Amino acid sequence: MTDPPDTDNLLLAYVGGRDVECPTCRYNVRDLKSPVCPECGERLVLRLQAVKPRVGVLIAGLLPMAMALGFIVSLLLYALWARLSWGDWLWDDATELVLMLTLVATLSVSTWLWASRWSRVRVWKPQQRSVLLLAFWLMSVGSVVAIFAVIG
Ligand SMILES: [Zn+2]
Repeated sequence: MTDPPDTDNLLLAYVGGRDVECPTCRYNVRDLKSPVCPECGERLVLRLQAVKPRVGVLIAGLLPMAMALGFIVSLLLYALWARLSWGDWLWDDATELVLMLTLVATLSVSTWLWASRWSRVRVWKPQQRSVLLLAFWLMSVGSVVAIFAVIG
């Protein structure tokens, strides 16, 4: 079995006689003699890439959690501002604060897991991903409803 051709040589062959922009500084690296951009000094590699990466499902999962997180964090900042301005919390006991901090932690971890594990989740069956997406939407809407119920 022979070794695959050196990827640096493939890169140099690819840019030989071809106008190609450095992905970092957009300098034309045509006829490059080493795999380093002469303008910005960035090391370059040749690799495969999907023409149009599918990110719709990724965003559909991030959206509800980001909206719920934004709402809760805004409410927490408003409560903190009220405390600093008037010396008074918006609520009487710690239940609301504990609930909000718990929801922020849960939503943050879920968002991070969804984004960081996306390369694995994207190859799941669509039905499996749909169940997870539904769970994220329910968790996000449920978080906001729970806060209104406790504060209201
Ligand atoms: Zn460059």
